[in-house]
Amino acid sequence: MDKNWSEMNKEMQALIAKKATFMEGIEKLLALRESLFEQVTQIVTTFPEEAFCRMPFAGAEGYHSKTLAYSIWHIFRIEDIVAHEMIAEDQQVLFSGDFQAAIHSPIITTANELAGDDIAAFSSQLNIRELYRYAQEVMRSTDRILTRLNHTDLKRRFGEDMVEKLRRTGCVSGAESAAWLIEYWCGKDVQGLIRMPFSRHWIMHIEAMQRIKNKLCRLARKGVDPIAYCGFSCNHCFLSAWCGSCRTAYNTCSYATVSPDGKCPNAACCQEKGIDGCYECSMLETCEKGFYTPANDGANAARAQAVYIRKHGKKEFLKVQERLHEKHVFAKTQEILGQDWREGLRILEES
Ligand code: SF4
Ligand code: SF4
Repeated sequence: MDKNWSEMNKEMQALIAKKATFMEGIEKLLALRESLFEQVTQIVTTFPEEAFCRMPFAGAEGYHSKTLAYSIWHIFRIEDIVAHEMIAEDQQVLFSGDFQAAIHSPIITTANELAGDDIAAFSSQLNIRELYRYAQEVMRSTDRILTRLNHTDLKRRFGEDMVEKLRRTGCVSGAESAAWLIEYWCGKDVQGLIRMPFSRHWIMHIEAMQRIKNKLCRLARKGVDPIAYCGFSCNHCFLSAWCGSCRTAYNTCSYATVSPDGKCPNAACCQEKGIDGCYECSMLETCEKGFYTPANDGANAARAQAVYIRKHGKKEFLKVQERLHEKHVFAKTQEILGQDWREGLRILEES
């Protein structure tokens, strides 16, 4: 489990358990949820539509064997049901906003009953933007419920009436792989529900989503030119574990993720000019776009590499990268090439 999330989760559990620190614990819980939700946002805003119904770990044991779309649906359907049917005892977000039709979901259940190809088929039907809007609404709505709780609510338990009520909603399938959920939730008090599904359940599924997205990126990069538009080598880049390259639809490099359209400015500019990379551009030495932004500490390392490619070609550049990584231990090339591109070029040429 991610160390930061795991620690936040542990601290939150300890804080909410005590009356004196209960509210502090709820604040920690909201911060944890916000940090986890950022991952969902990043995936939805940077990944292509087709990514959401792919199962790169199909058949594996564990949450990562699902799709990205399934994971989002499942996390937030469960939360919606538990938060509204059990804790607040009001209407679920799915029904209050007519989200089912907008998402194009054929089901209202948690989807636990789906397996194998049915997961991919279900995922391919969903409107991801609407699904994301639903997830956001559920999160905000649960956050409001959580902030209204007080310490004495934690020990509230649920009886047979709740079991019956949940069955009547039809939101949990009667299939063996799903039906157990109702007894499971009703066996907990509110404190237990804060753990599952409002915090730990998110962590487990969002970590699985990260595994899925990283694998999709690795698959996307296969057979693709490993030289990034700006002059970096994707084969040697410390971000390559989770970036699918600026030459594919799975580009999650830093400048792509912070750009409003999810596209790196250097990649967009090269494509507009119809050139293979910034190394073919006459403005390379003075350009301040995207990765070459003066405030970016990797700007001149990228520039040095792009100039090297222009002078010696991609093949030689990849060989130099190999030699640099054999000689030195580093994550970012600027650690070796420094902040002056001419000096960086000299280092590359002498390596
Ligand atoms: S961040 Fe840039 S260099 Fe690194 S893998 Fe992504 S596109 Fe390639
Ligand atoms: S103007 Fe800058 S970003 Fe555009 S191709 Fe030239 S060097 Fe690359």
